[in-house]
Amino acid sequence: MRSETFVPFRTGLGFDSHEFEEGKPLYIGGVHIESSFGLKGHSDGDVLLHALTDAILGALAEPDIGELFSDRDERWKSAPSELFLREALKRMRGRGYELINLDCVLIADRPRIAPYKDRIREKLSELTGLPVDRISIKGKRREGFCEVEGIACICTVLLGRTDAG
Ligand code: MG
Repeated sequence: MRSETFVPFRTGLGFDSHEFEEGKPLYIGGVHIESSFGLKGHSDGDVLLHALTDAILGALAEPDIGELFSDRDERWKSAPSELFLREALKRMRGRGYELINLDCVLIADRPRIAPYKDRIREKLSELTGLPVDRISIKGKRREGFCEVEGIACICTVLLGRTDAG
């Protein structure tokens, strides 16, 4: 097997979904969105940050978000999901990679994603250090995808070796 040194690029794919929970604050991509409902989950339920974290971990073939941050572990109860992303970014940098771009699809009937798209891109830029023109967010309606109402997110990333020249 060739050493990782000779792998200039790695792609990763992340998926997550959470159903709605009345009365919980709603966070998407680290942005608080005014809403009467949030996303059910052990942490803050930020479906986009979970999918992105798993995409980065997946690109590196590291343990996934559920293995690193078990939902049975009290430490992650109501945890801000930025924490999970930070760990994935730390592992990525430690392995000699940097993010090149990321692309996310949010599947939700509500809230409408379009009005928040730019705020989410700016927040992801702040969290990852990527310029906003390398961050793509797309909103799609469920259209039969799932019976239970909530939000799903699919995210892909491309990583490049920091020493690739
Ligand atoms: Mg999740």
